Amino acid sequence: AKKNGGACYAVFTPRLRTAAERHQKIRLKLADAIEQERIELHYQPIVDIATGRVSRCEALARWTDDELGPITPCEFIKVAEHSGLIHPLSYLIVKRALSELREINSALIEPIEISINRSPVEYLEQTAQQDFILNLSKEMGIPAELITIELTESFMLKDPELAIRLLTSLKDFGFNLALDDFGTGYSSLSYLKKFPFDFLKIDRSFITDITSTADDYQLVKTIIEMARILGMKCIAEGVEDEKQLQIIESLGCRHIQGYYFSRPLNASDFILYLKQAFPA
Ligand code: C2E
Ligand code: CA
Ligand code: CA
Ligand code: CA
Repeated sequence: AKKNGGACYAVFTPRLRTAAERHQKIRLKLADAIEQERIELHYQPIVDIATGRVSRCEALARWTDDELGPITPCEFIKVAEHSGLIHPLSYLIVKRALSELREINSALIEPIEISINRSPVEYLEQTAQQDFILNLSKEMGIPAELITIELTESFMLKDPELAIRLLTSLKDFGFNLALDDFGTGYSSLSYLKKFPFDFLKIDRSFITDITSTADDYQLVKTIIEMARILGMKCIAEGVEDEKQLQIIESLGCRHIQGYYFSRPLNASDFILYLKQAFPA
């Protein structure tokens, strides 16, 4: 059963006999899709419940292949990470996210911020100074302060000293940082306080049963308290109903993301959503 929101599971298509065959096929098709810029992005609102407005959104990659149909980002990101395609893929994603953010914000009175997922693999061989997001944000006229880079904790575990240096310089450039899927890995409290994250994203797997499971409730409560002590803001992921929202709100988490507000939408539907749900 898929309980863990932070983990990705391989999909098995009967027609392709082995996982390796599917992996290989996806790798070839993905290279073309990147080349032809056929990877798209959907945007999911993150609501600031203190103001009741959408203050930010998360960009989520989408790809539908003619033959294979929709392929989950979990699956194709993993293939990209194992094949070097993550670099051109991520470049395309960041470029598209920033240009669509410009479009979204030009339709709004108050600009919103964007969260972009980055793979730890991208930062293995490069410094923050070499990250293309610097040039892209300048070229597109999007200040770094509007951009949050989301990373999972596997990034910090490989080489913590290197990770701290990299994160610190990304922050020096003005970017915000979010620790994604928090709670699914191994970060300890003492560990976490060394890293300059602005946001901590509570993994969906803890939110799902928060209304029925005392353990999950206690865990989320503890995570929110811990974030407060460390001076980090919390985002609860995967909030699907009113009851979950009320509990999380009562625990003091201010930023909410999930189907309760909206599924991820393409840029034009996202603009419509913002105008309808939050008229000026
Ligand atoms: P993530 O970063 O944890 O993204 C949140 C996932 O939870 C998204 O799945 C989103 O659609 C889903 N979600 C949000 N609210 C709800 C809810 O209320 N209920 C349920 N059931 N699900 C909800 P998605 O879009 O399939 O993405 C899966 C993962 O793929 C992401 O997890 C992220 O790890 C990766 N990913 C997606 N886009 C990118 C990207 O552009 N770059 C990189 N490196 N990874 C990406
Ligand atoms: Ca997740
Ligand atoms: Ca994320
Ligand atoms: Ca997440």
